[in-house]
Amino acid sequence: MGKLYLVPTPIGNLKDMTFRAIEVLEKADLILAEDTRTSGKLLKHYNITTHMQSHHMHNEHKTTDAIVQKIQSGDTIALISDAGTPSISDPGFLLTRACVEAGIEVDCLPGPTAFVPALVNSGLPSDKFVFEGFLPVKKGRQTRLLLLSEDTRTIIFYESPHKLLKTLKQFVEYFGADRPVSVSRELTKLHEETIRGTVSEVAAHFESKPPKGELVVIVGGKK
Ligand code: SAM
Repeated sequence: MGKLYLVPTPIGNLKDMTFRAIEVLEKADLILAEDTRTSGKLLKHYNITTHMQSHHMHNEHKTTDAIVQKIQSGDTIALISDAGTPSISDPGFLLTRACVEAGIEVDCLPGPTAFVPALVNSGLPSDKFVFEGFLPVKKGRQTRLLLLSEDTRTIIFYESPHKLLKTLKQFVEYFGADRPVSVSRELTKLHEETIRGTVSEVAAHFESKPPKGELVVIVGGKK
């Protein structure tokens, strides 16, 4: 019986690869990557020559059984996503569940993920928090916001730059204009920054300076 490794990869800065992540990727029989072109650059940077196969949200339902069989027949397989930790708003859950159900050993290495530095940088309570990932775009969005408006824990969202202003305006509506918020942009990259303030202050900031790049939004819980 082989093993499934879930291997976090950098969210920007290539130096955030761990020694163990490199070793596991080098030794694996196969690397499953969300986008083989994106991951190809990372593997090239670290001279990792392990064969890659694509594994993404559009084919994971179809390929999971075959991957489980490969591991059962002795292969060690490493799953990576384009950036950060697999299974965190990325493919990984389906394969992990299938392996667990098949009695296969699963090992997720600790490593880069965007929400942890964003939460810690925010200065908002980090003892109790809820990870929401991406809000639903339409159906279920308002129900979710209404439910979260009563949550006393710090709330973590992933958001795209072109939807940030709309989302912040909805936060004013559902959470109130004075709720503390922190937006971390381009973590680990050249233009990394964190903007903190009330929801209305942060919305005003991004109204005058439209957001660019990848971002994580942290909202204080209800007092
Ligand atoms: N698996 C990843 C992780 O562990 O964080 C998340 C993948 S999800 C498809 C991509 C989202 O993560 C982006 O839209 C953004 O919200 C967040 N993200 C990824 N890299 C980031 C970065 N360098 N700075 C800020 N946010 C980032």
